Amino acid sequence: MRKRAPKDIIKGSYQGGSKERTFVKIPGQEVRDVTLESLKYLCSSDPDLVDALNLDNKKGYTCIHTHPVEERQYTQGMGSIPSSEDFSHFLADNEKKTMVVVQQNPETGDIEGYYLFRKTKGTQRSPFDFPTEYRRFLKDEKYGEEFGKVYVESAFAKPILEYRNKAFGGPFSTSQPPKQRQEALDELVRTFNLKARYLPAKGFRYDSGTKFSPLGIESKVAAVIALGLISLLSFFSGPLGGKVIKALGGSSILTSITLGGLLILLSLIAYSYLKLSEH
Ligand SMILES: [Zn+2]
Repeated sequence: MRKRAPKDIIKGSYQGGSKERTFVKIPGQEVRDVTLESLKYLCSSDPDLVDALNLDNKKGYTCIHTHPVEERQYTQGMGSIPSSEDFSHFLADNEKKTMVVVQQNPETGDIEGYYLFRKTKGTQRSPFDFPTEYRRFLKDEKYGEEFGKVYVESAFAKPILEYRNKAFGGPFSTSQPPKQRQEALDELVRTFNLKARYLPAKGFRYDSGTKFSPLGIESKVAAVIALGLISLLSFFSGPLGGKVIKALGGSSILTSITLGGLLILLSLIAYSYLKLSEH
């Protein structure tokens, strides 16, 4: 059977509003929804289901969860960037090799962008006996509390708490300047030797330290023009370039006039194409 695309599975699980869902991607398997509790801006995964799926896998897996963030979260809250808890759960569990946080539209469930973090050889191993302790932590409230204290006070968790303070101003997410949030994120990535990528979905761009935003018409036109310019330049600088320039008249003034004209034509085409495609 052909595997379904992760984004179709994630969108297919969406149940409306800002309730988060969580998934795992185990090598060789399809992305699986492992949500136990799905609450507003909060979710938990079913540890027994994850164990069962992960039983024969020795390579580690990818944990995925959604951030269906409402618009006002962007201006008053933390945007859609991963929380300190997200990093705690990821970094404390040595079996989790990659974490993906998915920004999702809270009205349509459409995926707008992905925050990807991959552990490398240089990433510090968690000193905790995961997943055993982690599972107990999830199942046993009293143990969870004790474990939480030990974890928070450990040297391992210190950079994660620093991230929380710098990016969100403490445990209750308040608005911090996006530049500061991105710096905090970069610092955490450096400290744990992670590889990070901020991958916008088609038609979106990454706003540093905040969210993935839809591309405006101007930037779409700019992108098309840039693409046209690149292909044009590579055309003229290729082995054929000299001949073409000669054929066009040979003088450099004439060439730039021709180039300029072509560019204007190209942008007009791009603009009318986008105008049409807007409707
Ligand atoms: Zn999260």
